[in-house]
Amino acid sequence: MTNKYDRQYNFSAGPAVLPVEVLEQARDEMLNYQNSGMSVMEMSHRSKTFDNIIKTAEKDLRELMNIPDNYKVLFLQGGASLQFAMIPINLLKNGVADYIVTGQWAKKAYSEAQKYGKINKIATSEDKTFSYIPDCSNLDISPDADYVYICENNTIYGTKFHTLPNTKGKVLVSDMSSCFLSEPVDVTKYGLIYAGVQKNVGPAGVQIVIIREDLIREDVPSWCPTMLKYKTHADNDSLYNTPPAYGIYICGLVFKWLKNLGGLEKMKEINEKKAKILYDFLDNSKLFKGTVEKNSRSVMNVPFVTGDEELDKKFIEEAKNNGLLQLKGHRTVGGMRASLYNAMPIEGVEALVKFMDKFEKENLK
Ligand SMILES: *Cc1c(COP(=O)(O)O)cnc(C)c1O
Repeated sequence: MTNKYDRQYNFSAGPAVLPVEVLEQARDEMLNYQNSGMSVMEMSHRSKTFDNIIKTAEKDLRELMNIPDNYKVLFLQGGASLQFAMIPINLLKNGVADYIVTGQWAKKAYSEAQKYGKINKIATSEDKTFSYIPDCSNLDISPDADYVYICENNTIYGTKFHTLPNTKGKVLVSDMSSCFLSEPVDVTKYGLIYAGVQKNVGPAGVQIVIIREDLIREDVPSWCPTMLKYKTHADNDSLYNTPPAYGIYICGLVFKWLKNLGGLEKMKEINEKKAKILYDFLDNSKLFKGTVEKNSRSVMNVPFVTGDEELDKKFIEEAKNNGLLQLKGHRTVGGMRASLYNAMPIEGVEALVKFMDKFEKENLK
């Protein structure tokens, strides 16, 4: 590829591609951040300079997502996986929750929650290797459920909820790790939204939790570690202890990048355009095929196969030699997966499809 940094198109599912403009700004500010005399990595998280970084990041995120005042925004650590435990520990009051299991991450969340209460699996798509989103318009919601849990975009299988489940008035909790900030969402429909940022927003090590204030409780079980209480972090504006400061700074730069681009409406438009290029190709290909039911397709993660494992391997290898990186499917499903996150330029998808077309012509028997 002929760009000034010799960067390649990176289709990784996460950690994943970040906007070049953001990386350039981070580079330019690396050694002396805005005349502070040091890098963001080296400064006190109690300093005025860092306070401004985290407050601005929160303000920009609130603007981008139109987050109402009765929701707290928390910048936490422990990966999205720590939320699998924090959610039940903090949100169970009756001790009952309903989970919709549409992939590995939802399944892991469901198993982890078992430790803390009576956890029901009210719908699943495991019967067809998670290749679709089940009909969730009239599920058997438990009358005493404290919340209903979904993984909104299934990173590994490439499915997405295009309609939210009917929770029959219960609080909705959503793992948005791999679709966070890819499109506008109506925050008021959720009690809690969370995302590990390394998919679509920033470097690994930060997770963002957006939680409605009435769900932040003091009376969590007494054995709950202080660090695992939402209240600890909410009361201290995410500065109870040292936060993942540099990661928060990069997230802040990405929020600015999104705002400059025109916000989430615009981002959605671009993302849909990118995904359409690949899906249209897959729908017309004689060699490659998508693995997901059409009405459940994700615009972020697109898995596909040739139907021949050896050929899949050859494709991944040759793609790599052509500057199209990290196209291998998740180790549990095989085949290929192209992640088309916010920072993947449209040219990257065009290059991928062009290469797939060439590969098809050369390898179709
Ligand atoms: C990657 C991912 C996770 C796990 O994230 P970690 O930060 O590695 O714990 C959870 N949920 C979804 C949807 C993911 O894509």
